[in-house]
Amino acid sequence: MFDKILIANRGEIALRIIRACREMGIASVAVYSEADKDSMHVQLADEAYCVGPARSAESYLKIDQIIAAAEVGNVDAIHPGYGFLAENAHFNEVCRSSGFEFIGPSPQAMERLGDKNTARSMAIANNVPVVPGSDGLIETDEAAIEVAKQIGYPVLIKATAGGGGKGMRVAEDEASLATALQQARNEAQAAFGNAGVYLERYVGNPRHIEVQVIADGHGNVVHLFERDCSVQRRHQKLIEEAPSPNLPEERRQAICDAAVRMIRGAEYSNAATVEFIVDQDDNFYFIEVNARIQVEHPVSEMITGIDLIKAQLTVAAGEKLPFTQDDIQCTGHAIECRINAEDPKHQFRPNPGKIQHLFVPGGLGVRFDSHVYAGYTVPPHYDSMIGKLIVHRPTRDQAIATMRRALAEMQVDGIAVTASFHDQVLQHPEFLSGQHDTKFVEREFLG
Ligand code: ADP
Repeated sequence: MFDKILIANRGEIALRIIRACREMGIASVAVYSEADKDSMHVQLADEAYCVGPARSAESYLKIDQIIAAAEVGNVDAIHPGYGFLAENAHFNEVCRSSGFEFIGPSPQAMERLGDKNTARSMAIANNVPVVPGSDGLIETDEAAIEVAKQIGYPVLIKATAGGGGKGMRVAEDEASLATALQQARNEAQAAFGNAGVYLERYVGNPRHIEVQVIADGHGNVVHLFERDCSVQRRHQKLIEEAPSPNLPEERRQAICDAAVRMIRGAEYSNAATVEFIVDQDDNFYFIEVNARIQVEHPVSEMITGIDLIKAQLTVAAGEKLPFTQDDIQCTGHAIECRINAEDPKHQFRPNPGKIQHLFVPGGLGVRFDSHVYAGYTVPPHYDSMIGKLIVHRPTRDQAIATMRRALAEMQVDGIAVTASFHDQVLQHPEFLSGQHDTKFVEREFLG
């Protein structure tokens, strides 16, 4: 096992990794920007190095600065967290060539799955269902028209390098296809420097269901069941839960098996999430793989009792997974609400600033993963998430009741946060029925 690692991240995920390290007897090294000098991850790590000014392009994304900190700190490995450099295959490669283990998949596996069109081909090769669509990238308007005729409108144009919903466009009919194609290409070129796009049938009102997988370097690949992340605003997840409400047991088994086939076929090790959309007849279709730990990993930890960060460290150190698929049981129901420094009364406008007073909810079944404290100033430069409120109870109804009770207890004075919005979602009949899809929030709350 490693003696010392560097965490190339900030916020709650940096704390989450420091906590796992401390319990495993691993020393931790934090990096921080000038805007984060008073952050909790700097205080809790064993050592910390400033890597640049507030702007992430000049600090958390500066590969040479992070490698320099790893050298000064004399660490064995680097954990990238999520966001920032977590899915950057070049960074992954530089870590390894500089003598530091990268806590994640190999650069080759990361690259194979990072390109969506390649990942889609791998899904097909591994007998994992994909949305009907083009055979590879679309080169010309004529080719797009031909494919769209076969799969039927509406169609979705997707950037192969896409992420965060960028480079995605729906075309309702042939008349709008060429324009939508051009818009998607332009957006993808500007955002990712790669204008490659492909076509998929647009699935109406889908649910978003994803499977947590972890694999070691010895051929062991297991899943930790699925999460439903259909409560989204502009493709950003707001609430996640496990297990999915309203997914027949046979479908659950099929979707989890498909995810394991995908990861095994990609010769991938470490943590991954295989994402699917599920239509109203419970057909599931692969959409992408996230080759890193995800924000919503705690709900899978709660229902299985497995510490995913410790598992990541274990397999990155070359050890075998300490459990098999048969050891993993799903117990109870877990829900996570992302608490963001945003004002739900004003179109979720970001609301950075000083937290004057803070009361964190507690009690049976409540977990709060957060880096904030009373007197902390939420900087305007980064993601607006200030914490994740997670509950775990024997049933979904009990989990919802506990979450509503915990949200009511939470006090954050000085900045607006999204807690009141979550409470509205949690009492909505559609959410309570578990029938909600990815358009639910827009339809019911933002319309
Ligand atoms: P990104 O990486 O940009 O977030 P994804 O491929 O993960 O893109 O898709 C983001 C969201 O877009 C999904 O959660 C789903 O809500 C929607 N989506 C993706 N593919 C389709 C499709 N074929 N039909 C309908 N909705 C889709």
